[in-house]
Amino acid sequence: MSFAKDVKTELTQIQSSDCCAVACGYALLLFGRAFSANEISILTEHGGVASLYCDAVALLSGRVADLQETPGGYYQVTVRDEDQRLQIINKLGLDLRNPRSAINLSNLQNECCFGAFLRGAFLACGTVTDPTKDYHLEFSVSSKPLCDQFLKLFDEFDLRPRLTQRNMTSVVYFKNSEEIEDTLGHMGSSEAFMEFIGAKVIKDIRNQVNRKCNFENANAKRAVQSSATQRDAIVFIRDTVGLDSLPQELQELAQLRLENPELSTTALLPLLSESITKSGLHHRMKRIEQFANALKKRTET
Ligand SMILES: [Zn+2]
Repeated sequence: MSFAKDVKTELTQIQSSDCCAVACGYALLLFGRAFSANEISILTEHGGVASLYCDAVALLSGRVADLQETPGGYYQVTVRDEDQRLQIINKLGLDLRNPRSAINLSNLQNECCFGAFLRGAFLACGTVTDPTKDYHLEFSVSSKPLCDQFLKLFDEFDLRPRLTQRNMTSVVYFKNSEEIEDTLGHMGSSEAFMEFIGAKVIKDIRNQVNRKCNFENANAKRAVQSSATQRDAIVFIRDTVGLDSLPQELQELAQLRLENPELSTTALLPLLSESITKSGLHHRMKRIEQFANALKKRTET
């Protein structure tokens, strides 16, 4: 099952209060496939959504709707009777000629109803991507005036969705994980909400681990490189003039470096018989390399 389908299943199982049932039902009808005096219908792949749509029709008209399963596995709910359609449009206080021209906010009686309306809209025309793959939640709205009104509604939630056009459809969408979480929360989905938080925590941890690994890899690489350079210098000294020709205080360090090629420069510190600082150690190593460089120059001329 897809993530979007799971979210819809959760949302269809929410028990709405009387006021919210009207708001949610209104949105289901409004954002369904068709909503006019000539046709009221929805086509959905989700049985729970189809059944909720039937409930909304029954609530607003006192009569049942026609529910059919299509060969492609979709559910189609249609209000076949014209009187029943007109009754629904009247009951919701909408313009008979164009019931989608405006959102009648008097159908959202209480504050709780805004979330229920959003839920109905999402069930009818929304989808959300699995948060482990991408952050994306959208509503595809076929009527542009309806879309404009719908956008204004998000002000109620302090949410700022983005808008794009896909073929003949206006798409209202979110890409930001916090806004998607908020939207899911307003719709009443606690499970999907938690999944988003969980996915984000996992993503954060993964990023942190990656950053740490990259950092450690880079450090290890640097240590290997400098160990090799140091050993080259020391081997050159040993094979030309002998390590004895190094100043006394550098000889032990040179020997330790030859014997411990896998250690970083700093890791040689505790192996020294005398105690010196880290920067003192690096300074001595520099002097060994300088000694070798000077020696090379002399042997070349
Ligand atoms: Zn309510």
